[in-house]
Amino acid sequence: MDLKNIDCRHFKGDKPCRFSQNKMCLPFQNQDCPAFEPIEKMTLIIKLGALGDVLRTTTLLPALKKNDPHGSIVWLTSPAAVPLLENSGVYKVLPWNLDSVLWAENVQWNRVISLDKEEGPTTLASRARASRRYGFGRNKHGLLIPLSRASEYLFLLGIDDQEKFRINKKTYPHLIAEACDLEWGPNPYVLNLSEKEINWGNSIIPNSKEHPHIGLNVGSGEAFAGKKWPMENFVKLAQQLTNEGFVPVFLGGAKEKDLYEKLKNEGKAPGLFPGCEFSLREFMAIVSKLKAMVAGDTLAMHIGIALGVWQVTLFGSTTEREIEFYGKGEALVENIPCAPCYKRVCPTKEECMSKISVERVFEAIKRGLNNRW
Ligand code: SF4
Repeated sequence: MDLKNIDCRHFKGDKPCRFSQNKMCLPFQNQDCPAFEPIEKMTLIIKLGALGDVLRTTTLLPALKKNDPHGSIVWLTSPAAVPLLENSGVYKVLPWNLDSVLWAENVQWNRVISLDKEEGPTTLASRARASRRYGFGRNKHGLLIPLSRASEYLFLLGIDDQEKFRINKKTYPHLIAEACDLEWGPNPYVLNLSEKEINWGNSIIPNSKEHPHIGLNVGSGEAFAGKKWPMENFVKLAQQLTNEGFVPVFLGGAKEKDLYEKLKNEGKAPGLFPGCEFSLREFMAIVSKLKAMVAGDTLAMHIGIALGVWQVTLFGSTTEREIEFYGKGEALVENIPCAPCYKRVCPTKEECMSKISVERVFEAIKRGLNNRW
């Protein structure tokens, strides 16, 4: 056995293999191993954040699988995003840290895909040993560059607002597939819940055919202004939904805890308040129980899309152009001259969101449910 060429994905090296009953690896004993699985055509995906962007980058996985059915995909991501990639079929999900970066630098990659723009990930993409590179890297002056001809349009969208906000009609999953020279299917998000997670979701949101559960996500993240729909609108919507036989389910993240608790304790908004401090996987299990969800352009929206839950998404400071709903959602946008602004702080009063009426949102929910029931 030539250790330089050992290529079984179960080989540990520092301990006995579980497939050899904790004895020496079978090929070392000149025996065939029934569990042998070669590591073939290795692809490195570097996509650290944001969480919603990581989730929508999973749309590359089906296309990569089609290209290399036995290929091995390794994904370097932010520690917070690691749970998003559980059960995704990725060979290794590595948190971004020095160990992972050093390990990745030593591997001979068949393909490197780099979709962040920060210095660290893009520099790794340019330094890693690879036959093909896609996405973004760094040149010898340390400047951001597209790594292939196929990735040039994606690069251009980052430096041309007119192209990004007015001309481009392709969604982000479509753009990244093309930027990586992969087929655009359309390829779905990959988010697989385990049976245990699904059962846990059932214990929080019971099944009800007569009274569909509608998620109202009050969370908005902190990166941009213009993602928050006024709370009084959520309350009015909850009242309207309840009157029509739906069950509103209020959702949010740990950052919205105070707001969420206030809303719950005031008692003006009818519906379920399952809590707002769940783990990512628990949050996903809850969303999987919904028939529709109202949210801003947030991680919650991406989770809903991934799980095939009808989305009514309110867009303010960011563009709806790059969101792929796969026919299971609607983007509600007000015609405001300053939008999309991608500003952190709104110079006015976030009219881009507040002007979206409760009635409009309610009608969009009903359209989705009627189309599917
Ligand atoms: S500047 Fe305009 S688009 Fe941006 S957050 Fe304010 S109202 Fe919305």
